[in-house]
Amino acid sequence: MKNKHLIFKKIINKETSTKIVYQDEIVTAFEDISPKAPIHILIIPNTFIKTSNDINEKNKNIFAHMFYIAVKVAKDKKISEDGYKIIINCNKNGGQEINYLHMHLVGGEKLKALY
Ligand code: 5GP
Repeated sequence: MKNKHLIFKKIINKETSTKIVYQDEIVTAFEDISPKAPIHILIIPNTFIKTSNDINEKNKNIFAHMFYIAVKVAKDKKISEDGYKIIINCNKNGGQEINYLHMHLVGGEKLKALY
């Protein structure tokens, strides 16, 4: 599918069977379709932001809220004490496949170090 980011809009609007684990007026958090760890949640803004390059003075509070909710979900999922990673991929070199800003919250097992 060319416009893969449209699926995220559908998830926000509850037009798919994707399990939403948290939603408020600013963000939506849901299970990744292809989990890379026992816990793999994506956190996205409800209003479209394409990449982390598009975070600016006006919308930076949305980004802060995404981070806050990622940590809240980690606590709710009881992975916060053992630990987790929060990852944002940006564009081609960062491995961003879906052009809709999203944070990956991954945990539930010992994760490989990137560096
Ligand atoms: P990226 O590589 O863009 O940072 O990550 C995209 C993520 O979205 C991947 O982990 C992929 O498994 C997930 N994903 C792709 N399509 C869907 C979908 O239709 N539903 C859900 N829940 N996750 C998706």
